[in-house]
Amino acid sequence: MTEPAQRLHLPEQGLDALLVSSPANIRYLTGFTGSNALLLVGEKTVLFTDPRYRLQAAAECPCHVRVERGSLLVAAAGWVRRKPIHRLGFERAHLSYESFLALGSHLPSGVDLTPLAGHVEALRMIKSPQEIELIRCSVKLNSQAFARCLRSVRPGITELDLAAEIDHQMRKLGAEKQAFETIVASGLRSALPHASPTSKTLAANELLLIDMGAVRDGYSSDMTRMAFLGRPGAQVRQRYRAVVEAQLAAIDVVREGVSAEAVDRAARRVLKAHKLDRAFVHSAGHGLGLEIHEAPRLGRGEKTRLKAGMAITIEPGVYLQEFGGIRIEDTVVVTRTGCEILTPTSKELVSL
Ligand code: ZN
Ligand code: ZN
Repeated sequence: MTEPAQRLHLPEQGLDALLVSSPANIRYLTGFTGSNALLLVGEKTVLFTDPRYRLQAAAECPCHVRVERGSLLVAAAGWVRRKPIHRLGFERAHLSYESFLALGSHLPSGVDLTPLAGHVEALRMIKSPQEIELIRCSVKLNSQAFARCLRSVRPGITELDLAAEIDHQMRKLGAEKQAFETIVASGLRSALPHASPTSKTLAANELLLIDMGAVRDGYSSDMTRMAFLGRPGAQVRQRYRAVVEAQLAAIDVVREGVSAEAVDRAARRVLKAHKLDRAFVHSAGHGLGLEIHEAPRLGRGEKTRLKAGMAITIEPGVYLQEFGGIRIEDTVVVTRTGCEILTPTSKELVSL
């Protein structure tokens, strides 16, 4: 991997050094997977962490590691004080106000603190071939776990039972954890786009929405699929087809150079033709990688141009209080001429 300092182009930002405090950004730049660290990127790159991570940091990080018993922030400020650093950048989205004040109070008066927004995240948007391979493996694992869990879906089990089974299968297949709290929503509860599973039992002739993601080797996957417990009626089938059509239309416009909002617009246009656009209450997708939600967001007003190597989800959905919700979500990788759909799971409405 190229040196973090070279990749971050700090002189062009008018900076002598950057203090990185987001764990995902630290992992991206150094490979360190621990939960407590600060990274100072400058002429030299230094990782500050606590004694619990002494061995792990030495094994994972190619950069200089300082193990500190006290405050990492004070240690980093001490390092800055001893170096010719006058303009120090920090991550405005990842440093609490309290930490910001503490940092300022430990730096000499000649050091300017400059807030940066999304600087490392901008690099993370474009995945390397190795990262795409890791996302592909995570997506595959997630789909395998889904296939295994379908067998246990039947009326009488609770949403929590099914969510526990999904999480169990993910782990058995090698996931480190879930990328987010598994969503299992049945019947009218599927109209809640971000429902937490409850003790509600699955009943016959109900919609079932499952949104699940695994983390494997640090990289996330994300998929939503629908099932129907019984034979779906005409209205369910028609609305399901509308969402599939919207999802395929959105996938169809994905390629390098297209704006993120154009993908959202494509899905929205289809749902409007089915008079369902008002029921589509979120954006069409998001980037994913070391975190489940990363840039770019594929929503209205998002001007970011898609680039080859971006890993994104495409997930239109409709939510109607009296009916329930339908969402279909795949993970895809943007290419120069289109996209590669990583999710292997069929988009047929599963009838159980
Ligand atoms: Zn999802
Ligand atoms: Zn998603």
